[in-house]
Amino acid sequence: MCGIVGISAETNVAAEIYDSLLMLQHRGQDAAGMVVCDSQDKLNSRKSMGYVRDVFQQRHMNKLIGSYGVGHVRYPTAGGTGKEFAQPMYVNSPYGISMVHNGNLTNSKELGVQLFHAEMRHLNTDSDSEVLLNIFAHELGKQREIYPSAEHIFKAVSKTHRRCDGAYAVLALITGHGILAFRDNNGIRPLSIGIRKGETRDEYIIASEDALFESQGFKKLRDVEPGEAVYIDKKGNLFSQQCADEPQKRPCIFEYVYFSRPDSNIDEISVYKARMRMGSKLAELIKKKNPDHDIDVVIPIPDSSTTAALQLAVDLNVPYREGFVKNRYIGRTFIMPYQEERRKSVRRKLNILDLEFEGKNVLLVDDSIVRGTTSKKIIEMAKEAGAKKVYFASAAPAIKYQNLYGIDMPATSELIASNRTEEEVSKEIGADWLVYQTLEDLIDTCQFGNPNIKEFETSIFTGKYITPLGENYLEDLEVSRQDEVKAQREKAKA
Ligand code: AMP
Repeated sequence: MCGIVGISAETNVAAEIYDSLLMLQHRGQDAAGMVVCDSQDKLNSRKSMGYVRDVFQQRHMNKLIGSYGVGHVRYPTAGGTGKEFAQPMYVNSPYGISMVHNGNLTNSKELGVQLFHAEMRHLNTDSDSEVLLNIFAHELGKQREIYPSAEHIFKAVSKTHRRCDGAYAVLALITGHGILAFRDNNGIRPLSIGIRKGETRDEYIIASEDALFESQGFKKLRDVEPGEAVYIDKKGNLFSQQCADEPQKRPCIFEYVYFSRPDSNIDEISVYKARMRMGSKLAELIKKKNPDHDIDVVIPIPDSSTTAALQLAVDLNVPYREGFVKNRYIGRTFIMPYQEERRKSVRRKLNILDLEFEGKNVLLVDDSIVRGTTSKKIIEMAKEAGAKKVYFASAAPAIKYQNLYGIDMPATSELIASNRTEEEVSKEIGADWLVYQTLEDLIDTCQFGNPNIKEFETSIFTGKYITPLGENYLEDLEVSRQDEVKAQREKAKA
């Protein structure tokens, strides 16, 4: 998963892109970068591995002069980790295009072959973002225009849509001309536009999440629609056009469960309210399945489950307590490569408040169970702290399939629920009982916020992928995501 932002304003935008990236940091902690374009059409850029605050020092910021630019925070998904994967990625022809991408292409191997053998373009990494950038650059270059208009740019986006499968929310800075945003024809990854009055013109922000708009003085204008392209030229004129043949809004449901900030609205659904409804639905389910439950206290696993857990407690009429204190200064456990380290780091990340557990039947709530590492360790900690019984509720249904659209999920074979029933998962993680949200209920909780959305991208629960997949794509990804294979890759690199 990644976070992207682009700003077009009257004066320098680097400080605002920096602040925006800080607010998108939860979407990626592996690398960060930005590029801005100045009044002489010169690009100024900085990208590196690490957190936003580490990548951009004052000395870098001083050089980032320009009134339009794009920024990125990266979380490695299909590609590897390393400096060469940091974004924006750049090609110098035509015009000089810098691109930031959130999502993942599912036919990048085939496109890479076409680029090399038919279009004389060399790829330096196995990043699908580099493929996307080169496809777009090739299509824009084919038009041979010295000064590209919105019309030329939209034509290149339409051609890009026809060639690229998968998920992509994209921002591109076209040197000397402006910034472009587009979203794949399903709108799998989020993208919104905000507007603010400048002295002489309107100023714009386009970003993965709208939660950051207000703090930069922008008001939300709207979401970028699936398949749509929005172009803001360097003078601040905004153009937009639908560029996909068959657009259909099918946003990723996991954004609401886990990824997005609770203060964001994605495709007109408040993430916070969706999470509250997830809590209510879980409460209904628990009452139905277990009318005589003996839960004494509801305890969230911080942070992404707290909203659902609080509402669940209210609806069950059971006290809500904070049983874990999170150390905010440790990165996510999930990105640690090996299982043993993951287990240890759960313990380092969460400290337990014994007094909330002693002699009680506790219901722990998490947003999801992936490998089961967190839940297993936490249940063990709860029991050590003296809990009588430990029940577990997941605000998401059982995750059974790998994600192909830009979320870093393990190989299917490493998902705890891939070949286990609910009872078996419960036993494996050591819970006294376990309840998963049903998919139907999860969809309801999101659809309630925007009934116009008829379908969501839910493949991690169903295994039904909504875009075409390249030859052997699933099988290859399954292998490359296994811990063992990742370890070999790292060793070969070192
Ligand atoms: P696990 O321990 O593997 O079962 O992971 C479950 C925990 O990881 C939950 O607490 C989630 O909040 C969190 N989580 C879910 N999906 C992801 C992801 N793609 N990246 C990082 N953390 C995740």
